[in-house]
Amino acid sequence: MKKQIAILGSTGSIGTQALQVIEEHPDLYEVYALTANNQVELLAQQARKFHPEAVVIANEEKYLQLKDMLADLPVKVYAGAEALCQIVESGPIDIVLTAMVGYAGLRPTMNAIKARKAIALANKETLVVAGELVTALAEQYHTPILPVDSEHSAIFQCLEMQNPVHKLILTASGGPFRTFTHEQMKTVTKAQALKHPNWSMGAKITIDSASMMNKGFEVIEAKWLFGVPASQIEVVVHPQSIIHSMVEFEDGAVKAQLGMPDMRLPIQFAFSYPKRESLSGERLDFAKFNTLTFEKPDLNRFRNLALAYEAIHRGGNMPCIINAANEVAVAAFLKDQISFLGMSDVIEKTMNTASFIATPTYEDYVATDTEVRRITAELIASSKY
Ligand code: NDP
Ligand code: MG
Repeated sequence: MKKQIAILGSTGSIGTQALQVIEEHPDLYEVYALTANNQVELLAQQARKFHPEAVVIANEEKYLQLKDMLADLPVKVYAGAEALCQIVESGPIDIVLTAMVGYAGLRPTMNAIKARKAIALANKETLVVAGELVTALAEQYHTPILPVDSEHSAIFQCLEMQNPVHKLILTASGGPFRTFTHEQMKTVTKAQALKHPNWSMGAKITIDSASMMNKGFEVIEAKWLFGVPASQIEVVVHPQSIIHSMVEFEDGAVKAQLGMPDMRLPIQFAFSYPKRESLSGERLDFAKFNTLTFEKPDLNRFRNLALAYEAIHRGGNMPCIINAANEVAVAAFLKDQISFLGMSDVIEKTMNTASFIATPTYEDYVATDTEVRRITAELIASSKY
C-alpha cells in the first residue's frame, strides 16, 4: 500500500523537496493533499503533476484564480485557514508533512494529531510555541511525531531504545556571520543575511539561522521531541554541516549522524521510517571533506540563542512570546524596518513586557500570540532599532 501524504506548505523549500522524494518513489508514496499560502501558479503546477485529491490555498483571495486554473482536473479546491485545518483530517491520509512556516502551523498540526495522522514535523514553531501541549496531545492520541529538521532527525537516528541519553549535541553551521565582529554585525544587510553558507531554505528560517534564533528554537524543539531538559542540550558550531547532530550516552559514547547537507534525506526518513530507502544525490566523500571543525557558540554576538535558553528557563508562555516577537522582528528586518542586531533588542524588550502565563492553555497561546505581535510591532514603529 502506498503511503498517502498531505503536504502543508508544498510550494516552499521543504515542500518542493518533499515532492522530489515522492517523485523518486512513486511506488511508495502518493500525494493526497497540497497546500500553499499565495503561490497559486506553483500550486496548480504541482497539482497537475502529482494528482492530489485536494488542494488548499490559505489566502482566500486567490481561490477563484486557483479554481479556474484547475477547472479541467478532478481535484477538490478549497481556500482559507479553516479549510487547511480540516483537510488534514481526511480519512485516507497516512502522513501530514508540516512544511508551512511559523505560528500558523500550530492549529493544523494539532488537528492532524487528533485525527491520528502521523506527523512529519518540519514546522518547528509548533513545538516552540506550544511544545508541552502538542506533545501531550500526541501521547493522548497515540500519534507519532517524526522529526524532519535535520538535527532532530540525526538525533532520532542515533537514539537507542534501551539506553537513556546523557546529552544531546545540536550542531549549528554558525550562519553567514560566524566570523563577523559585533561591530561588523551592526550594519549587515538583508542580502547578506539571506546568503546561508550551506543550506538553501525559506527566507524566515534563513534569517533565523543567521541570527542563531533557529538554533535556540531547535533546543526547544529537541526538549519536547526527546523529553530531554535544556541543561542536557548543548549547541556546538560546526561550520561544514556534515555532522547533523549527536547523542552522548551515559558511558561517554557519542553517536553522530553524518551526510551531505540535503534536506531530502530527513524528509524521506520521516516518510519511510522505520525503513531506509534509496535516495539519489551526492554522497559524503571523506577525502573531500577532510576537516571537520567545532567551536563554542558566542552568546554575546548571537544574543538570540541566549534569549531562547532564557525563554526555556522561564517556561510557561515565554517560548510562545519569543516566537511571536521573532516572527514580527524577522518580517520587519526583511522589510528593512529594523537592523539585524535590533531584532534581539525588540525581542528581549517584548519578553520583558508581554503578559506571562505560567501554565498556558491553547486559548492562552492564541491570546499571547496576538498580544505579542501588537507589542513588538509597536516597539518597532516607536523607535529606532
Ligand atoms: P518557505 O518559506 O520556503 O515555505 C513556506 C511554505 O508555507 C510555503 O508553501 C508557503 O506558501 C506556506 N505558508 C507560509 N505562510 C503560510 C500561512 N500563513 N498559511 C499557510 N501556508 C503558509 O519555508 P521553508 O520550507 O524553508 O520552511 C518551512 C518550515 O520548515 C519552517 O517552519 C522551517 O523552520 C522548517 N524547516 C525548514 C528547513 C529548510 O531547509 N527549509 C529545515 C528545517 C526546518 P507560499 O509559497 O504560497 O507563500
Ligand atoms: Mg535545523
